[in-house]
Amino acid sequence: MRSTHYDILFEPLRIGPVTAKNRFYQVPHCNGMGHRAPSGMAAMRRVKAEGGWAVVCTEVCEIHPSADVSPHSHARLWDDSDIPALARAAEAIHQHDALAGVELGHHGFRAQNRTSREIPMGPSSHTVVSYDPVQSRVMDKEDIRNLRRWHVAAARRAKRAGFDIIYVYAAHGLVTPMQFLSKRYNQRTDEYGGSLENRVRLLRELIEETKSAVGDTCAVPVRICVDELVGPAGLCSNGEGRDVIEMLADLPDLWDLTVGDWSNDSRPSRFGDEGAHEQYVSFVKQVTGKPVVGNGRFTSPDTMVSQIRRGVLDFIGAARPSIADPFLPRKVEEGRMGDIRECIGCNICAAADNTYTPIRCTQNPTMGEEWRRGWHPEHIPERESEDQVLVVGAGPAGLECAVSLGKRGYDVLLAEGSNELGGRSAREPRLPGLAIWGRVREYRVEQLNQLPNVQVFLASMMTAQDVLDTGANRIVIAAGSHWRRDGVARYHRAPISELDQAAVFTPDDVMNGKTIEGPVIVYDDDHYYMGGVIAEKLRSDGLDVTLVTPAPLVSAWTVNTLEQPRIQRRLLEIGVHIRANEALVAFRGGEATLACAFTDTRQTLKARSVVMVTARLQNSTLYDDLLARSSEWPAAGIKTVDRIGDAVAPGAIAAAVFSGHRYARELDQTPCGDDVPFRRENPELGSWP
Ligand code: ADP
Ligand code: SF4
Repeated sequence: MRSTHYDILFEPLRIGPVTAKNRFYQVPHCNGMGHRAPSGMAAMRRVKAEGGWAVVCTEVCEIHPSADVSPHSHARLWDDSDIPALARAAEAIHQHDALAGVELGHHGFRAQNRTSREIPMGPSSHTVVSYDPVQSRVMDKEDIRNLRRWHVAAARRAKRAGFDIIYVYAAHGLVTPMQFLSKRYNQRTDEYGGSLENRVRLLRELIEETKSAVGDTCAVPVRICVDELVGPAGLCSNGEGRDVIEMLADLPDLWDLTVGDWSNDSRPSRFGDEGAHEQYVSFVKQVTGKPVVGNGRFTSPDTMVSQIRRGVLDFIGAARPSIADPFLPRKVEEGRMGDIRECIGCNICAAADNTYTPIRCTQNPTMGEEWRRGWHPEHIPERESEDQVLVVGAGPAGLECAVSLGKRGYDVLLAEGSNELGGRSAREPRLPGLAIWGRVREYRVEQLNQLPNVQVFLASMMTAQDVLDTGANRIVIAAGSHWRRDGVARYHRAPISELDQAAVFTPDDVMNGKTIEGPVIVYDDDHYYMGGVIAEKLRSDGLDVTLVTPAPLVSAWTVNTLEQPRIQRRLLEIGVHIRANEALVAFRGGEATLACAFTDTRQTLKARSVVMVTARLQNSTLYDDLLARSSEWPAAGIKTVDRIGDAVAPGAIAAAVFSGHRYARELDQTPCGDDVPFRRENPELGSWP
């Protein structure tokens, strides 16, 4: 059982007319499922309730067609026909005695209204934030009255859907009440603009009207941005951010505190530690008697206790930690700290929303698969055969596979060629900013230590003969991949012909400590994090570094993980030269040739080395050798040889973990053949024709 030190986390606490059974509060978070996949969304929330969260909220819920942020798939309460989808979530959350919260939102000038084709509207006329060629119109008094009426109508629908907590949302710059609050966005001159008293008017009205509509049985919290991180030009915690909380102090039933925009609120671990918001939010409890929740990638129960004891927060808010481990509260309650699957702050979860796809998580391969594949983060079916499984390679894929097979009860051999477990999840965390990513390895090694049926063999570089000699029945190759040296990726689909190979290196070389001489070009045609990280590492080693990329941005894909602007800023600040929209086309005799990605205009650049951050190649030797000897499998007792993770196709760590988990789940299951391997939420269309 848990130590009494953590008892405080399990105290019940009132929120207006409802009571939360403990202090674990899953704040609203998007999930890419929303109104398009309501059963998936509901099942995902249900698992969190089962895992012990006292409050489980939906993502933002559009209250009206003029709040349409499609193609993002968030919750919707446009009219009564949306109630059943959300009722499903509330009901699922209630199954495990948690309070169900819904975050009502109107997106003001952030709503492009691509589906509804309504004209976006906000306090003032602004360009919408995507590059859609459309501006918002200025809301007149009737628009404001309409918005207030829609909010009340949506609140009543939310209550009918079964929610206990119905939010007024005024954070992240995303929604109309915040756009009215912040002088950055509100340039009105009527009673809704100008002084803070005027700018706060809409928020006050929405709180009062929502409370009078549903507040008899439902709590009405406000999610607010206390600091926009732009100083006195916007809301700030020693200026107007504080003033707003003082003005409304006890009006809402709870304050849910955020800082900056979403990229700061879900700050990647490369750029912020656990509890990074404290300095901005700690004043709030001094100016309100209402409970306060805040987030900050809280994964350590000691940090949580400290936040509460020191009077910073009343509830421990979590989005990402609840995604990585839906059972975090239960594990703390049961004193199973080592079993907590800690969030690594990689924001692959956010990338799902940003790419309009169902949520996924690096640490938790079952996230988003609760309904469609029936996966559960803590339960996995027992083995269905006595087969012994050999997993070759202990990177993220091999580790996850061995752990999950071990939990199913299989007899597992895990052979790793190097002297340490983890593969890339051991090597990459030594690069700048990636230390926390080592939790991918740490969590799984901790689990392996609890599984006597998984035997681990280090320093065991397996050949085909070794594999045949083990006597294992199922062979899983998780041998990973290595970075290419020949320039092949997106720009070059065939190797670059003019390359001075002696001076060409790869990220593997950098991680292996090879000496690289400057000036060095880091050529990034991968576009995820590695190019930026390698440039940062070499620059901090004192080299003159130029990052060349055919993309317009450094680490361009990290726009989706909310990291990109910070990566580019960091590189510029430490003095990395950046040449965007250019491809490396030759490197010989200390001179690189760069081609404009649009015109092919050539320029030269002196350099002593090039680090190619391009595509990767599967480590396929073992698999190929085994295939070549397939006639020997029956005698050796081998039934199947499969590949997982980067050994099949190099990708993100999340994909490798998923791949390893999927293999373990599906072993000895009837293959689905040509059937779709997961359930879909196809609408009922009746018969056809
Ligand atoms: P993934 O992301 O797919 O898990 P990694 O590259 O992180 O891939 O890990 C692959 C691991 O497999 C590395 O630790 C590597 O040392 C190990 N490995 C590769 N080939 C063999 C082999 N033939 N025998 C044992 N281990 C191997
Ligand atoms: Fe945390 Fe990454 Fe999982 Fe998101 S995807 S919850 S950031 S581990």
